[in-house]
Formats: sequence, structure tokens, C-alpha cells
Amino acid sequence: MTSDLISSKELSKIDPVFGQLSFDNHEQIVFCNDKDTGLKAIIGIHNTVLGPALGGTRMWAYNNEWEALNDVLRLSRGMTFKSAITGLNLGGGKAVIIGDAKTQKTPELMRKFGEFVHSLSGRYITAEDVGMTTADMDTVREVTPYVTGISESKGGAGNPSPITAYGVFMGMKAAAKFKYGSDILEDKSVFVQGIGHVGESLVEHLTNEGANVTIADINQERLEEVSSKYNVAIYKGNDIYSESMDIYAPCALGATINDDTINKLRADIIAGAANNQLADESKHGRMLQDRGILYAPDFLINAGGIINVYAELENYGKQEIIRKTENIYNTTLEIFEGAKQNNVTTNVSALRIAKDRIETRKKEQGK
Ligand code: NAD
Repeated sequence: MTSDLISSKELSKIDPVFGQLSFDNHEQIVFCNDKDTGLKAIIGIHNTVLGPALGGTRMWAYNNEWEALNDVLRLSRGMTFKSAITGLNLGGGKAVIIGDAKTQKTPELMRKFGEFVHSLSGRYITAEDVGMTTADMDTVREVTPYVTGISESKGGAGNPSPITAYGVFMGMKAAAKFKYGSDILEDKSVFVQGIGHVGESLVEHLTNEGANVTIADINQERLEEVSSKYNVAIYKGNDIYSESMDIYAPCALGATINDDTINKLRADIIAGAANNQLADESKHGRMLQDRGILYAPDFLINAGGIINVYAELENYGKQEIIRKTENIYNTTLEIFEGAKQNNVTTNVSALRIAKDRIETRKKEQGK
């Protein structure tokens, strides 16, 4: 009936799941619903060749379910490549809970979500993301062992955000080294967009090094708190993308490098914590390259958090966490060199290495 009204070309555009551009060969997608707690969640398992799919849970008041599905697919795919490039034996997965974390999150809802995670028998292991706290992971732990990022007092590696911020700082320094010949960030102007768990910690590293930091956030209270704590400027304008800066550090949500912003950007470097910063990886990656803006791939430099939670599975300590996180500096430089030599974008350069590792493991497994 529908095909009589809509051409097959049009239909292909609206394939709800497998046809989505961001689907990109996901192994499994799980829709979770619970009437009593109001839970509506989606778990995406992108790839498990290197190991169980590990990735955080995000709670966000999406405008509609399409947005939520698209977000989880993009995020879980990113986790596959993040773990692969970082050398971890983990696959890629992610979960989103649809709702406002401030008003709709309850312990009952978190436990019910944990039960859904448990039903996957370890194919997916969860962790913290936007809208989640370490305490929420502790609640999930009550019903399933397939969760990381639980409190140190409960045997976990604790809040991953400071380590994520440290890794971003390492990636940013590597970018400065490549762009300016020195990795010292003193006097560089850095715009940190989003001063949540990761952003604030990044501000601390930057101010310790003497960078000239400006912060932006939609939360006025946070802005004032962080501004007075670290003595940094609050952005007062209404279009951060038009500002002149040395380094733009997106630490809020993804896709801020898009058709509307990319031509306005006046930064030398983009290095931040947000996942999926490029709305369209190939198009916007290429446009940044053409404009001479050095992009430190997000999935590479924000891997500190996953290195931290992986410690819970592999039983390594703080020293090894720091060593692996500091290595982000070297990997980032290698990616930049590879991109230059092969005349590809930095994103493509990073993806190639990640994909090679997965393909090699697949062959070893005889698949
Ligand atoms: P968070 O929720 O603690 O902080 C996000 C901050 O961004 C909040 O202060 C929020 O008010 C602000 N924000 C939201 N929309 C904004 C907008 N349009 N403009 C300006 N500010 C805005 O989250 P987080 O844990 O700090 O994570 C930040 C980003 O880093 C996310 O994209 C997350 O996926 C990514 N990331 C986090 C980790 C981690 O260890 N927490 C690891 C890897 C990647």
C-alpha cells in the first residue's frame, strides 16, 4: 500500500533501522520498555569482534525517538573504533535512556535498565555518560555485574571523567605540537564548550598550564562556579563559532561541527571530549582539512574514560591507567603524521588504524 504512494527511492530513505546511515552494520539493537518505571531505552551493540561491547549510558530528553536512535547508533559505532585504536580488547556499544535525568531518573528506573543490560549476558557492558553519575552505576550494579565505573568504595575505578579530561589534554598538547611545533599551551586561547564532569577537569589542566581559557555552557550556575574556581572568563556572546580562538574544545554534546558552523570557525585546532563532533565525518572532516584546521579525532583523544573503566575488567591499577592515557599523546601524533603522509583527513587516518585492528582480529578468529 505504502509503496503505491511513495517511490522505492523515498522508501529507502525512511527505512527505520537497517537503512539508517548511522546503522553501519550494528550487530544488535535492543529496545527496552517498562511501563511501571517509565523506562524507555535503546541499547546499541555495534561490534563485538575485539570483545564485549562496552560503552556508557546517556540519559537525555530527546525531541523524538528518531533522535534517540540516531544518537545511540552513532555513539556505539564510535565506541568500536575508540576501543580498537586504544588497543583495548573491547567491542563497541552504547545505551540511551529517553528522559530528563534531572526529573525522571529514579533508582527503580536505573535498576530496571540494569535488568535489561543483564539480559544480554555480558554482550553489552554499561558505564556512565551524560546524565549519569557513579552513584547510578552503583544502582545498576545491584542487579547486574555487567557495569563499570562503579564507586571506588565498591571496588570500581570510580568516576572516569578526570581521566577522560587528562586524555583530552594529552591529545590537545599533541595537536599543539603538530600545529605550532611546541606542546606548551601557555597563553593559547582555548574555548571550552560544556563545563560538566569532563569540561571542568579540562579547565583545571589548562589553567595550571597558563592557557587563556574561556568557558561556555547552558547552565549559568555551573558557569559562575567554574569561573570563580579557576578564574576563567565566561563567554558572553551569542555565537561561539564566530569567535577567534587558538583551540576549540567541544565538551558538551556532539555534531557541533556541521554545515552551519564549519565555515565560521576561526580556530587552529579542534580538540575536545564530546563524542561525534563532526556531524558528517567525511564531508566535515575534509572541510576542516581544506581550511587548515587541525582536528584531533574525538574517539581517539577522549578514550581516557574507557581506559579507566577497562581497568575494572582487567584488574590493572592507577599507574597503568595513567600510562595508557598519556600514550594518547603519541597515538595522536602518529595519526596526524599518517594523515599528512597519505593526504587523508585525521579522522580517516584514525579510522583506518582502528578498522585494521578489527579486521586482523577477525582473520585470527577465522571469520
Ligand atoms: P556532563 O553531562 O557532565 O557535562 C556536559 C555539559 O555540557 C553540562 O554542563 C551541560 O550543561 C553542557 N551543555 C549541554 N548542552 C550544551 C550546549 N549546547 N552548549 C554549551 N554547553 C552545553 O557530561 P560529561 O561527562 O562532562 O561529558 C561531556 C562530553 O564528553 C559528552 O559528549 C560525553 O559523551 C563525552 N565523553 C565523556 C566521557 C566521560 O568520561 N565522562 C568519556 C568520553 C566522552
